[in-house]
Amino acid sequence: MAQSEQNFSIEFFPPKTPEGSEKLRVVRAKLADLHPKYFSVTFGAGGSTQKGTLETVLEIRSEGHEAAPHLSCMGSSRDSLRAILNEYKSHGIKRIVALRGDLPSGYGSIGFASGEFRYANELVEFIRAETGDWFHIEVAAYPEMHPQAKSPQDDIQSFARKVRAGANSAITQYFYNPDAYFRFVDDAHKIGVSVPIVAGIMPITNYSQLMRFSDMCGAEIPRWVRIKLASFGDDSESIRAFGLDVVTGLCERLLAGGAPGLHFYTLNQAVATSAIWKRLNLARH
Ligand code: FAD
Repeated sequence: MAQSEQNFSIEFFPPKTPEGSEKLRVVRAKLADLHPKYFSVTFGAGGSTQKGTLETVLEIRSEGHEAAPHLSCMGSSRDSLRAILNEYKSHGIKRIVALRGDLPSGYGSIGFASGEFRYANELVEFIRAETGDWFHIEVAAYPEMHPQAKSPQDDIQSFARKVRAGANSAITQYFYNPDAYFRFVDDAHKIGVSVPIVAGIMPITNYSQLMRFSDMCGAEIPRWVRIKLASFGDDSESIRAFGLDVVTGLCERLLAGGAPGLHFYTLNQAVATSAIWKRLNLARH
């Protein structure tokens, strides 16, 4: 696939403090120089960061860039989601990342039980019913299986349901094993799912943080990567240099193998994403 047809996007979370907002402005200015197709902004279930999502998206748009809010449905009512969708529409926002969401720890199952949606395919269906073709809808995909799925076969069927409900394309959970991604894409094709599946990329900059996130979301860190990272101890410079090599190599394999794009989970940091982007020589597209 020609680079001009591939999509490169960048994800932030909404800052919680004025200092965080200021820092994100600086980070964004650096990453905007890379000319991503769009910036996406995550959405916290249970009300934690929902206002921040819209504020951050509007700020990005006011700087002249395309921005896509994430929207999760767990614990939400139809009325509240309708209001959010109408607000996005009124601002001319055309792209949205639709998710089930995870409740912050401490919510137990209360929020889940009180919500009107159980799975993301129901949210996609709702968005289409409410807003027709207004939004380009992205959904999540899991090359290494979502941790709550019964089996990879069940999980890919759940993914197919989201596409049949009207999703235009997908972004994967991060992974470090390209074969898992290629197999997932092949399996999706076999069951008739042909939307672009963009690979989610998590730069490696911090060993303990990476282990914590990966335990939560079910992403596997290959043994050789784990051992090597652990061997660096507190030597963060070596961790970053090794992480840069590993993740750049992963991206190269993905792009060479036909991935339709890359979506960078930046955790609101510019340096690692920018370094990988430059090493990959991703020209403006
Ligand atoms: P679903 O597609 O609904 O799947 C959830 C689980 O249910 C899976 O195990 C699936 O196999 C299973 N399932 C689905 N349908 C059915 C069914 N009908 N019957 C039985 N089982 C079923 N979280 C946030 O809170 N905010 C964000 O902004 C956010 N952004 C994300 C962006 C990306 C690109 C990704 C990959 C994840 C993001 N997440 C976010 C995390 C996401 O919300 C979690 O991974 C969540 O646990 C699953 O969301 P989903 O949309 O994939 O859910």
